[in-house]
Amino acid sequence: MGEINEFKVKLLNCYRIMAHPKRRQSKTRTLKRRTHDKAVAPTLAVCPNCGAYYIYHTVCPTCGYYRGKVAIKKEDEVAE
Ligand SMILES: [Zn+2]
Repeated sequence: MGEINEFKVKLLNCYRIMAHPKRRQSKTRTLKRRTHDKAVAPTLAVCPNCGAYYIYHTVCPTCGYYRGKVAIKKEDEVAE
């Protein structure tokens, strides 16, 4: 028996065997878990600087302003 146990330990060390589920998960269980998975539309806000829509908590893509300050200069403005 001792030899067999040593062999098992060697196997575990060689292949790093991990926990293994006894049964496959049913379709119903998988689908029930996924009932809460859905895409959510991002919150939009109107830019106070230029009036365009932008995604909340991000820099305005039209004018590059964030919280009333220039956060990113647009490429054509940088080149000038
Ligand atoms: Zn803007």
